[in-house]
Amino acid sequence: MADFHLEIVTPDRLFFKDDVRMVIVRGMEGDLGILKGRAPIATPLKIGKVRIFQGDVERVAAVVDGYITVLNNKATIVTDAAEWPDEIDIKRAEEAKKRAESRLKDRRDGIDVMRAESALKRAINRLEVANLK
Ligand code: ATP
Repeated sequence: MADFHLEIVTPDRLFFKDDVRMVIVRGMEGDLGILKGRAPIATPLKIGKVRIFQGDVERVAAVVDGYITVLNNKATIVTDAAEWPDEIDIKRAEEAKKRAESRLKDRRDGIDVMRAESALKRAINRLEVANLK
């Protein structure tokens, strides 16, 4: 199977730029696998994993919300944050998870539930990806 070009861009770095055989992302309606020759798309992504396949090698990264565009055999993922398993600070993610859980448990006036739920999802996703190390 032929390769196509993939770039993953965050506000502070070009996280990934290389030719790949396949990428699997978490779209709004489930996982989306992209191969060479795919018809153009532009679609939002959920907090989740990006699975990158180069030959027989698979790499997984954690991403937060973002979107993917595919055009002319080039896929671009733009996201607010992306990390490889060995970049993830487990203690920080565990603390973020606890913070979000206690905010959701207390439900004090003024707590932004969607914000706390999103922080919880980011933390759980990071812990899952860190475990793939
Ligand atoms: P925290 O509350 O710990 O800041 P967060 O989910 O609010 O977590 P984000 O806003 O998603 O953090 O990310 C902000 C920046 O910090 C990004 O550059 C992201 O890659 C980095 N980052 C966040 N959490 C971690 C972590 N556990 N390990 C490594 N980098 C992290």
